[in-house]
Amino acid sequence: MLSRGWNELDVLFVTGDAYIDHPAFGTPLLARLLEAEGYRVGILAQPEWKNPESFKIMGRPRLFAAISAGAMDSMVNHYTAAKKIRRDDAYTPGGLAGKRPNRAVIAYTAAVKGAFKGLPTVIGGIEASLRRTAHYDYWSDQVRRSILIDSKADLLLYGMAETAMCELASRLNGGEKIKTILNIRGSALIANEGPQDTISLPSFEQVTEDCNAYNLAFKLASEQQNPLSAKPLSQAHANRQILINPPALPLSEKQLDRIYALPFIRLPHPGYSDKIPAYEQIKFSVTSHRGCFGGCAFCAITHHQGKTIQSRSEASILAEVERVTEHPEFHGTLSDVGGPTANMYGLHCNNPEAEKKCRRGSCLFPGPCKNLQTSDRRAVRLLEKIRKQQKVNHVFVASGVRYDLLPFQPQYFDALLQHHVGGLLKVAPESMIDRVTDVMRKPGAKVFTDFLDKFRRRSKELGLRQAIVPYLISGHPGCRLEDMVEVALYLNQHRLKVEQVQDFTPTPGSLATCIYHSGSDPFSGKPIHVPRTVKEKRMQKALLLYHRPESKKDVLEALRLCGREDAGRLLLPSPIPNKSSAPGTAKSKRKERSSRR
Ligand code: SF4
Repeated sequence: MLSRGWNELDVLFVTGDAYIDHPAFGTPLLARLLEAEGYRVGILAQPEWKNPESFKIMGRPRLFAAISAGAMDSMVNHYTAAKKIRRDDAYTPGGLAGKRPNRAVIAYTAAVKGAFKGLPTVIGGIEASLRRTAHYDYWSDQVRRSILIDSKADLLLYGMAETAMCELASRLNGGEKIKTILNIRGSALIANEGPQDTISLPSFEQVTEDCNAYNLAFKLASEQQNPLSAKPLSQAHANRQILINPPALPLSEKQLDRIYALPFIRLPHPGYSDKIPAYEQIKFSVTSHRGCFGGCAFCAITHHQGKTIQSRSEASILAEVERVTEHPEFHGTLSDVGGPTANMYGLHCNNPEAEKKCRRGSCLFPGPCKNLQTSDRRAVRLLEKIRKQQKVNHVFVASGVRYDLLPFQPQYFDALLQHHVGGLLKVAPESMIDRVTDVMRKPGAKVFTDFLDKFRRRSKELGLRQAIVPYLISGHPGCRLEDMVEVALYLNQHRLKVEQVQDFTPTPGSLATCIYHSGSDPFSGKPIHVPRTVKEKRMQKALLLYHRPESKKDVLEALRLCGREDAGRLLLPSPIPNKSSAPGTAKSKRKERSSRR
């Protein structure tokens, strides 16, 4: 501030992540955008939340404070699916845990309010966005109120908030009071009433007491996620109303290009001496687009970034690649070019009329929509041009790919295998059992098997030794123990080895979390099995990792419970002991004696 000659800030950002001036992180991206709009902006990264003085270090800002927990919900960041405390934090120097509070948005907002009486407070980011209505909170195992009520913030900006943030700053700068700013797209607030066409969700009190009301609230809110046709929503919390304005419109190519051309220095704040794991992972990666139309039940990306793919222009991406190659540590390898789903670059809905009215949560489930434009032309050309860039020796695609799109993208598939896999391709079938993938809104076993066969065949033709690493989820709603036995057998039969298993975590706002809480599908009303006990979850995980010695006991128990002891011969290295050869029996003693001889 001193070197810029600023005596005060216009906007103070508070974030639970370390400060890394890179467009992959939301707070620095919004800060750079406001700076480009002429505002004086400061970022307070990981302040000591119990010390009010640490919030005053840059003084009281003129317009407002913008508060975020960081790139992750702070509870997801702090706890494992088994509710154990994590010992690390990828968004902190040295990977140290403990640099942000639990429920960081609430804690930071209280601290800002304490430090600067009467200053407008605006919350955003994943934590605030996905907790904007009454929501099930796994860590306290209860339905919590909207985070607007618990944080007492003046305004919540949900989703990718560039346009909302710029409009808010401009209106406050123009002299409007925050209490009168009721209608920004992508915002939520506490208001006495909304516009006439507002859709009322069941109240906090109703959804707390009744799972059917919870499901109905989820369904109604899901139906209003299309920014082209969404109506405002409201939800009563006792005598207060939460008003949720329709989502922000998707950014145009020009708007996106402008954001990614801002002068990010692509480095962490110079005050840090230790490495920041999340930065190490993305420092040589480039975001080509935003949004995802996959609509997987357990994922929040469609809820946060929207279903519309917003792609940058080729020129903008190539210019960024060039800037990356000038990074002092760059040695020729781009670690990723992609977005939430790499092979969605340049794709869109081909039918504007249908798109306006569309209420589908996914353009791919239960099968690809006939209106979806799936051409790989733009993505193939982009990758080709990046490969030709000077100083770029390798370009990897580390973002996930939707393999159910690849049959429509033969050239992309070939380019991926030939140039961008790097030995291992991570894909996420999540399960191979159709009734489970139906709950997850993922393609089923046949689509995955076809893809796997094609991948292996084509890799062989190309003379490349590369393999698929499948990502699978254990304990997902809809998955029974017997389903997981079948998954383990599938893995065994297809020579696939899982190295890491994601134990399902009911994170706020997702469809799978709604099912976890209510035990039924909010759209069909159908009851759905939910693995809840520690034992069942442990056995499901062990089945996916059946090849590990430490899994054996749980695998044996799972097979016994499912009456599938026969599967043990395939899954376990040594046969399941039957009665006559169990330790201590005459037969086993004879065997032992003869083997000693
Ligand atoms: S009409 Fe089809 S392609 Fe278009 S947005 Fe809806 S689901 Fe997607």
